[in-house]
Amino acid sequence: MRVAGFLSRGKSSTPLPAPCIFVAAMPADDLDSALQRAADAIRAARYVGALTGAGLSVESGIPPFRGPGGLWTKHGEPPLNGFEEFLRDPKAAWQARLNPQGPMRELWETLRAAAPNEGHRALAALERLGLLRILITQNIDDLHRVAGSVAIAEIHGNYTLVRCLGCGIRHHRDDVDLHELPPICRACGEILKSDTVSFGEPIPFDVLEVCQQAARDCDCMIVAGTSATVYPAAHFPLQVRERGGTLIEVNPYPSEITPLCEVSLRGPAGVVLPHLVQLIEQRRGA
Ligand SMILES: [Zn+2]
Repeated sequence: MRVAGFLSRGKSSTPLPAPCIFVAAMPADDLDSALQRAADAIRAARYVGALTGAGLSVESGIPPFRGPGGLWTKHGEPPLNGFEEFLRDPKAAWQARLNPQGPMRELWETLRAAAPNEGHRALAALERLGLLRILITQNIDDLHRVAGSVAIAEIHGNYTLVRCLGCGIRHHRDDVDLHELPPICRACGEILKSDTVSFGEPIPFDVLEVCQQAARDCDCMIVAGTSATVYPAAHFPLQVRERGGTLIEVNPYPSEITPLCEVSLRGPAGVVLPHLVQLIEQRRGA
């Protein structure tokens, strides 16, 4: 098992199915039984975490990066040495990012228009119930926070934030003066970069530490909308499983992580997770 604090692509021997959220919906009886088992596992667990990925964003109308209609499929993959390029010429990297006609424009417009879905809201509700302790997300779209989640570790960063490469402090992008590029940290004088993690960039130390602690603490992890193939995020559910914990998968289609999951809830997170929360609330009230 490779554990690295760098964003890298996992090696996948089988191509993933197209991210259609209605593929392989579960028969109602099977889903009901799986929901019961998932609710039992969550209620029995000492420390529940969640790992979410692009599937949840897709349900909010944000296209995936790869696959049909994917942003990278249409506009080309970002360079694998994106962080190195940023460091070599931060000003040019900022100019490219801010270019209103640049290839990222479609992504920014889509992200700004997106709203949380019922899956995001269900995870926030699970946290308010005191059951979900930490939510690790690979998504950069800020939708978990907008939905009300608080204990979030955004392992690939957050597109609304700008982060100092020196002291790690984060600012909302609207609070950063971008008249002179690259912007400079007022606290330490280092360069500010978008909080979103580029290829080749180390996962920010503070976030990685929270995630690693979560992987040690969790005896149950909900893996929603992700095939968990991108490291280092992919490592966390594996670590929970290796320690004897329970994995609950929420995904419309089977993926590489399916064989490791005790319960698979086949359906969109926005449909399945609200049912799960409702079931848990009913049992608590019983
Ligand atoms: Zn700083």
